[in-house]
Amino acid sequence: MHPALDSEVQAKAKVYQWRKHIWDWSRTALTIAALLAFYFSGISQLLASELAARLPQSLTVIVYFLIFFIGLWLLRLGFDYKSGYLIEQEYGFSTQGPGGWLIDQLKGLVVNLLILGGGVVFSYWVLLASPAWWWVWVGLGYVGLAVVLTNLFPVLVLPLFFKLKPLEDESLIERLRGVIARSRLKARGFYEMNMSSKTTKKSAMLAGLWNTKRVILGDTLLQENTPDETEVVTAHEVGHSHHLHLWQRFVVASLVIFVVLFLLNRIMVALFPAFAPPSRTLELALALLPLIVLGFIALNFAFSPLSKAFSRHLERQADRFALGATENREAFIQAMASLASRNYDDAYPHPLIKLFYYGHPPIGERLKAAERSNFR
Ligand SMILES: [Zn+2]
Repeated sequence: MHPALDSEVQAKAKVYQWRKHIWDWSRTALTIAALLAFYFSGISQLLASELAARLPQSLTVIVYFLIFFIGLWLLRLGFDYKSGYLIEQEYGFSTQGPGGWLIDQLKGLVVNLLILGGGVVFSYWVLLASPAWWWVWVGLGYVGLAVVLTNLFPVLVLPLFFKLKPLEDESLIERLRGVIARSRLKARGFYEMNMSSKTTKKSAMLAGLWNTKRVILGDTLLQENTPDETEVVTAHEVGHSHHLHLWQRFVVASLVIFVVLFLLNRIMVALFPAFAPPSRTLELALALLPLIVLGFIALNFAFSPLSKAFSRHLERQADRFALGATENREAFIQAMASLASRNYDDAYPHPLIKLFYYGHPPIGERLKAAERSNFR
């Protein structure tokens, strides 16, 4: 173990992370069981045909989707409460009451209903309008939506949950000038977010696109970190901007989504010949939604080692940028070690956990890479 890490805290972090994994896996198992039961019990067919007999096509899709999605959300809520709230309370991370937590969940539900609902209506429209090539149109729709949502995220979605204000700490901005000079960001593109209203964990992110692009620092991070540590964390986020990582992520995510949709179409046609044109009807395709969602989840999971490995590659590049821009290896090591302790990050996860879930290199690896780098 790296000497900057606290072995006692790391032992606790391992238990914490395993408990979260186990609850998340239980929730996934329940979701899979529910999707299979919904389809194979015949309820999905019944619902689709009853709605199709009474409503126009677009409303049929919307009402089916609302019942399906809200039902799934309610079923998962107990697991979300345990993993996302009770365990967070137990470890002293959550600073919210149960009411505040539930309001956030409801806001999240509404945002998801709007975005996914729009996506599902569009998808069913092209399923019927372009039976053979629907997966190409859905893929293109996904890419377009991802670009728009990334642009709107920091100005429309994030403010629903947090307050954001431009960074005011002049001495910090002055320190960051050197880093900013090496980036494509403007000095005004730095914001503080009141993370402490919900959690004691600390983090920073690069969010937005074009006119909305900004580095967002949690107030938890600004309060706890030394100025040197904040500078190096900010430099990491600026590194993502400098290397155009967002666009690289778009390209890889788009490739994955097209392959997933292509395979999904093939699998559905092979398993359910009636899904193939010209016999496909709205009623039939809608009744199959639970299995389409299941296939989508399974294929995305199958591709996650690939997309996570690419994400870790970008994170290593941002780390190297941060070390080069600040030339302060000691601050980088301290910032990483305190992140691991504060957030109970497992610095040395099981290789399989890393393979499927780690979009960042484990902190143990980031510390080792910093030690090996040429920067002082
Ligand atoms: Zn990063």
